[in-house]
Amino acid sequence: MEMFERTYIEEARHRVGERITLAGWVSRTRDLKKIRFIVLRDRTGEIQVVVKPDTPEMFNLSLGREDVLSVTGKAVESDVAKAGVEFLPDGIEVINRSQQPLPVDILENKKSDLDTRLNWRFLDFRSPTTNAIFRVQNALVTAFRDYLSGNGYMEFQPPCIIGSASEGGADLFAIPYFEKMAYLAQSPQLYKQMCAMSFEKVFTITPIWRAEKFNTPTHLNEIRQMDIEQTFADDETVMDVLEKTLVHMLEEAKEKTADQLELLGRELTIPKTPFRRVTYTNAIEMLQGAGEPILWGDDFTKTQEALLTELVGDEAFFLKDWPGEQKTFYAMPYDKEDERDARYLEETYGSTEIGDRLVRAFDCLYGGIEISSGTMRIHLPELLKERIRYKGLNPDNFEYYVGAFRYGAPPHAGWSIGLERITMTVTGQSNIRECCMFPRDRDRLVP
Ligand code: ATP
Ligand code: MG
Repeated sequence: MEMFERTYIEEARHRVGERITLAGWVSRTRDLKKIRFIVLRDRTGEIQVVVKPDTPEMFNLSLGREDVLSVTGKAVESDVAKAGVEFLPDGIEVINRSQQPLPVDILENKKSDLDTRLNWRFLDFRSPTTNAIFRVQNALVTAFRDYLSGNGYMEFQPPCIIGSASEGGADLFAIPYFEKMAYLAQSPQLYKQMCAMSFEKVFTITPIWRAEKFNTPTHLNEIRQMDIEQTFADDETVMDVLEKTLVHMLEEAKEKTADQLELLGRELTIPKTPFRRVTYTNAIEMLQGAGEPILWGDDFTKTQEALLTELVGDEAFFLKDWPGEQKTFYAMPYDKEDERDARYLEETYGSTEIGDRLVRAFDCLYGGIEISSGTMRIHLPELLKERIRYKGLNPDNFEYYVGAFRYGAPPHAGWSIGLERITMTVTGQSNIRECCMFPRDRDRLVP
């Protein structure tokens, strides 16, 4: 039950002339000699409350920004008000006061700097731009979940505390765990594979942690990943799922958060499927042709990702067939003895030789930045051990991982989208911190 009978501002527009009670925050007031305007805001929008001097208790009521009010009265049509209606109150109740002055500018007349806004994140959420970013993010998450649920994928919940590294490498946060050490998960990798071994098509939205000491506009130490994993699938199978999921997410955001995108100055174009497949080798040639100092075997820098996007000329595309050294041990290598692989290599590269060096891994670049990576996984325990060795790692330390594929493991593949990354591109932000409600970076643990 509500505290009192309350009408949302959006609904008030359709209830012109009825006596209703609105509740929300004071965005701003404008006091003229003969009239007072109070802009009241709730989660559905803003309305201008108009007070005349003949009601002195309301006309003279002292009000500050972000005071919480309930206002009873009637909505009336208005030619001047932006929303087409304004509100004539017969009573105003101050429910709670806001301390003044506000520590951040949430009206965006003079936008406070990012650090200050993050320190006061709960207030910053009330500024139109920040508010719009998270509404768009919410539309993306909802669309992701709906699309996959609607297509037979089961949502699963991986653990966040793990006993050992899932990706290899040193980017793990260690935490004391009773008598032992444990780690914060850097990826739900093994868990999604284990779930797929039974449930076949699975997805998750889960936080992960990377202890890299970077401090870049595109990296955080805690992010949310949106992952799928599925059986009887190769890299191309899940690339197809990725582009369809992405397009659905963008379409939904465009439809459900049109006002927010407009406020953010974003005109979303929906990329056409199928996205172009650019091979890693071809991408290196393109960058070299443009004078970039990059060699076959190198990873792309963020600047090179942006340049490559210009050279390719598509907003969204795949980079596929990566050198094994750039991807994790579980990425499936090409097998030039295999008839299908041999045919593909011959058609794409004019020879099967290069197959020895390539794995079936891909990145999806969208809006000039990597938003997703995926691979076909190795489901064959012996091959997996060989690749672990090839990476200079000790297979004995990965027995818990390899063991998962000894009891009837079908071929499988999957990918991961970074939620904050995709929010960046969709909302047009250049700093990832704008796209995370409570970012965790090298310096920030609070709020
Ligand atoms: P990058 O090369 O961009 O640093 P990555 O290849 O190390 O990312 P993956 O392991 O492929 O990252 O993770 C899958 C997705 O998760 C990435 O495509 C990206 O969208 C997101 N992601 C990974 N690490 C970070 C991070 N530190 N900050 C923000 N997003 C990240
Ligand atoms: Mg990646």
